[in-house]
Amino acid sequence: MLLSRLFKQLAIALPLGLLAISNAQAQRDLSGVEIVPHHVSGTFYYLEGAGGNIGISIGEDGVVMIDDQFAPLTDKILAAIRQLNDGEIRFVINTHVHPDHTGGNENLGKMGIVILARDEVRVRLSASSPKDALPILTYSESITIHLNDEEVHAFPVPPAHTDGDTFIHFRDSDVIHTGDVFRTTAFPVIDTNNGGTLDGTIQALAILVGTAGPDTKIVPGHGVVSDRMDVMGFRDMVIDVAAQVEEMVVRGMSYEDVASANPTSAYNDRYGDPDRFLRAVYTELGGEL
Ligand SMILES: [Zn+2]
Repeated sequence: MLLSRLFKQLAIALPLGLLAISNAQAQRDLSGVEIVPHHVSGTFYYLEGAGGNIGISIGEDGVVMIDDQFAPLTDKILAAIRQLNDGEIRFVINTHVHPDHTGGNENLGKMGIVILARDEVRVRLSASSPKDALPILTYSESITIHLNDEEVHAFPVPPAHTDGDTFIHFRDSDVIHTGDVFRTTAFPVIDTNNGGTLDGTIQALAILVGTAGPDTKIVPGHGVVSDRMDVMGFRDMVIDVAAQVEEMVVRGMSYEDVASANPTSAYNDRYGDPDRFLRAVYTELGGEL
């Protein structure tokens, strides 16, 4: 009884703790961060810095940005973009609400750059952000921006990493920016406090596999440029772990017993600590922490 209450408290404290850590890191470390551009294909580049990978499409009509990392990095991000293109930055699309993807919104909004995101992202950002940081164009269905001879097709996916996830397919360059639904550096983060779900993660990864062709370049929220086969492997891993955990839940195993049984053992070397992912899988499949 006592133990289960303790775990409940931990489960509540954990996401807040993570947020505090990421904000503290933002305060402490960012002065040394360099923004490194990588050309992926056609009009599309991504910028590596601190936080989620920033996507940009550049050309004679200017710049379309995906996500904007943290506020203290805005000057460096803009300088990196200026090295590639001196045209107007027309739009920023937020892939989801997290501060390592939306932290620059306020700076960019004050410059008059149009911020787009799903309705859900604006609602969640409104709770903690000033007016200039909020998306002024929101959508509940797909939306396409036509610039630089590029179709920038942004479309909502089922609640996966959060309930406001968007994939952005740069159709002419054939690049998809996935936000944090797909990552190459860790197990999926299913942020249940922001509406993320296991079921939606599996569905969204299936949509990604279905949207990508064999040569499509896939840019994750965190990690390196990948392809459809990499996403299939990641999806299969999620399905494999979920199937194992489901059996354990049916057998009535406690979370501690599930964690000891180590259903992620085949993947831990690659993706690291599975605890947060496993907890989300276990609870969504009916287990009680
Ligand atoms: Zn995220």
